Amino acid sequence: MSARILDGAAIAAEIQLEVRERTAKLVARGIVPNLTVLLVGEDPASQIYVRSKNRACHEAGMASATITLPADTPEAELLARIDRLNADASVHGILCQMPLPSHIDADKVLRRIDPAKDVDGFHPMNVGKLVLGDPTAFLPATPAGIQEILRRSDISTRGARAVVVGRSTIVGRPMANLLLQPGPGGDATVTVCHSRTRDLPAICREADLLVVAIGRAHFLGADAVQPGATVIDVGINRIADPTAKKGYRVVGDVDFDAVREIAGAITPVPGGVGRMTIAMVLQNTLLAAERQA
Ligand code: NDP
Repeated sequence: MSARILDGAAIAAEIQLEVRERTAKLVARGIVPNLTVLLVGEDPASQIYVRSKNRACHEAGMASATITLPADTPEAELLARIDRLNADASVHGILCQMPLPSHIDADKVLRRIDPAKDVDGFHPMNVGKLVLGDPTAFLPATPAGIQEILRRSDISTRGARAVVVGRSTIVGRPMANLLLQPGPGGDATVTVCHSRTRDLPAICREADLLVVAIGRAHFLGADAVQPGATVIDVGINRIADPTAKKGYRVVGDVDFDAVREIAGAITPVPGGVGRMTIAMVLQNTLLAAERQA
């Protein structure tokens, strides 16, 4: 039987509508939530992503600005820009688009952003709050978006055996922590796998919920999936496709066609997790504005 497709695009649209309604209430009080993005250099993927964030902000009734700096901007200048944004009461959320040029220490930059404006949730203060289960944490967009997909699709994680493949600080680790927290969207028994894990397929086959975030096209096949499991594919990989207009297409880390035949539910790529990321950044910006108000 073919798996239920978890429609991230529809859920993201639902969240963006909710954000718009809450934003209108703040605007009526004279507060316009403002997201300011720092973009250093001319990475084409980053430029597209930043444009999408700006568009989504405007659709939600928020203000957004992009500060574009040349690739050779000294680290000190970027840090000074962040200091000014931290001090600017009209700016509620600050993002520094990654990757940064190699002469800039990304950790230093992430630590410089005021945790109250850190809508990416990457500042150690927010990471610590997430681990401690403090509800005032800004949650990183991708894992928080996955949790929303599960909640809004009525997929219970309580007591479930969850396996997260990938231990990055932006996806795998925060995902594992969220699934572990007590309460809705949590209460799972979590295993985290990575490139040194022995017999990955056997561990994955034990999962009721499998979250895959490794960055390898079609890596995980049906042999690694328990029948009926929920499979969340975070991967965004370009593969050559001469029949596509651009010469490539985007696929996930999971072999979708094979796995959908065995899984109970699955997120597609594109149209799954990726669509949630911007919605969650908007939600965090709104939250930041509500708190600062
Ligand atoms: P990273 O490269 O930071 O981390 C990849 C992780 O996968 C590492 O922990 C690595 O293990 C693990 N890994 C790599 N190869 C294997 C393997 N063969 N077996 C088991 N584990 C392996 O990636 P990210 O977490 O940043 O991103 C992962 C994917 O998700 C990418 O395709 C990225 O584009 C996508 N992504 C999508 C987002 C969205 O909005 N949908 C947002 C963020 C990322 P080790 O630590 O041992 O090296």
